[in-house]
Amino acid sequence: MSSQLNISRRLLLAGSAAGAVTPLLGMPAAIAQAPAPKTNSGHYSFRIGDIKATVVSDGTLSGNPRIYASTAQAEELGRTLSDAFLPTDTFRLNLNTLLLENGDRRILIEAGAAQTLGPDGGHLFRNLAAIGVQPEHVDAIVITHTHPDHVGNLSRSDGSSAFPKATVYIPEDDFAFFIRNEPDLSRLPMPEDFRRAFIANIKRSVAPVAKSAVLYRPGSEVLPGLTTIAAGGHTPGMSAILVHSGAQALLITSDAAYSPLLNIDNAWRPGPDLDPDSALQSRTRLFDRAATDRIPVLGFHFPFPGIGNIRTTDGGYRWVAANWRFDG
Ligand SMILES: [Zn+2]
Repeated sequence: MSSQLNISRRLLLAGSAAGAVTPLLGMPAAIAQAPAPKTNSGHYSFRIGDIKATVVSDGTLSGNPRIYASTAQAEELGRTLSDAFLPTDTFRLNLNTLLLENGDRRILIEAGAAQTLGPDGGHLFRNLAAIGVQPEHVDAIVITHTHPDHVGNLSRSDGSSAFPKATVYIPEDDFAFFIRNEPDLSRLPMPEDFRRAFIANIKRSVAPVAKSAVLYRPGSEVLPGLTTIAAGGHTPGMSAILVHSGAQALLITSDAAYSPLLNIDNAWRPGPDLDPDSALQSRTRLFDRAATDRIPVLGFHFPFPGIGNIRTTDGGYRWVAANWRFDG
């Protein structure tokens, strides 16, 4: 008797959570009994011509907002965040990797952070599995630059390659700067021990593919339908990527901007840009191209799934987030 009561109570609660409009007796048993999911979906599919594209989240990272908007006045930054209903003491960035499926080939753009920059990364493999993709199904991984949040998942904790069959593409100038040499990151707005761990994480993540990686110079079509675009400044070799198929395209701006709010709607500069003037020129070139040619943009760190358009305004730019689509 009491267990029956509990069941009805649970059904009633499930009904009220769903808006209390579904007649309980008409609800399919599978829905009525399904446990509540622990998280929302971490993948989002759409098409670029013949290519099936899926944003696959590796989670998030967060830090002091001043890191991502280094040229903002403290008071104005606080007001902007608070006007956007965001906390003023910490700012969250997403980690939007992109899986491209063309015929039987699977290409991943960026490997994600794992936990190299905090405990909220490392969801890539779970989210790939949710769409039926195992690491050995990935044929190629294109890295836009070798910061730890873009290469973190390349290696397993035992130092082996996490994507055993993938050819990894890395910009030549980043490989020379971060992997072959000891990078000087003294101008980055982080403490010395953070910088040391940052560099160690890059080297550890890239180590299993260092010998086999294909080093590329941005400006070429590294794979069919994937044109790299020089966008240095954030790092020496950073590349943007234009994915194109038929009449459709998507511009991946990598870390030219961290946040639509902080770096597009407001023109504040990301603190970690190694060469701020070159980074600004790259950012302006990419934004102008996206606006002029009306190309949809994917921002690696933008609010999931990170897709939208950039338009010009009087002397600046404005981000317009894409509507959610259910026909992926
Ligand atoms: Zn990044």
